[in-house]
Amino acid sequence: MKLLEDRIRKDGRILPGNILKVDQFVNHQVDPELMIEMGKDFAEHFKGQGITKVVTLEVSGISMALTTALALGVPMVFVKKISSKTLSNDTYHSKVFSYTKKIEYDIRVDKRFITPEDKVLIIDDFLANGQALHGLSDLCRQGGAEIAGFGIAIEKVFQGGGKEFREQGYDVYSLAMIDHFTEDGVVFSHEVA
Ligand code: 5GP
Repeated sequence: MKLLEDRIRKDGRILPGNILKVDQFVNHQVDPELMIEMGKDFAEHFKGQGITKVVTLEVSGISMALTTALALGVPMVFVKKISSKTLSNDTYHSKVFSYTKKIEYDIRVDKRFITPEDKVLIIDDFLANGQALHGLSDLCRQGGAEIAGFGIAIEKVFQGGGKEFREQGYDVYSLAMIDHFTEDGVVFSHEVA
């Protein structure tokens, strides 16, 4: 998606450890118009498949999952990272190892929101090694839901998560695919011969 690639070039910052900081438009300050366009793009790709729900992980996936759900006309569910007093005890839970924080954390979702009647589109802001997607898929499987595919804003192709899920037959649709970082910036997959 050219709009997202241009924005990454303009406002993204590369940090040590192959981390791309996008806090100007996704991870802290959020650009609503960009989120609307990303939601439309995800919805266009996954439309007509009988998707009943868009599922993401709080916090950074929420803005784009919401616009995708709006475009598909279905609810959005965000999986919680911390247990809150208002969260019911009747939850599915799993564990995710955080790429950026290097810690393992619990994720939870109320059992009412993922059911065997659901066909789920999983959305996240980044795909690196695939740990977050494994955790989200695990919750969907516990709920008996079918996984329609994965919509990712920024995939760091060199970290292998996307390859693993595609080899398992999943539709992984990424709006910006980064082949590698250089000292000068980002090289997208379609720019590499
Ligand atoms: P994975 O679980 O695929 O290894 O990493 C994906 C998760 O880690 C995303 O949900 C995202 O929060 C975080 N993440 C991975 N790489 C990056 C990155 O380069 N920049 C930012 N801001 N977050 C990242």
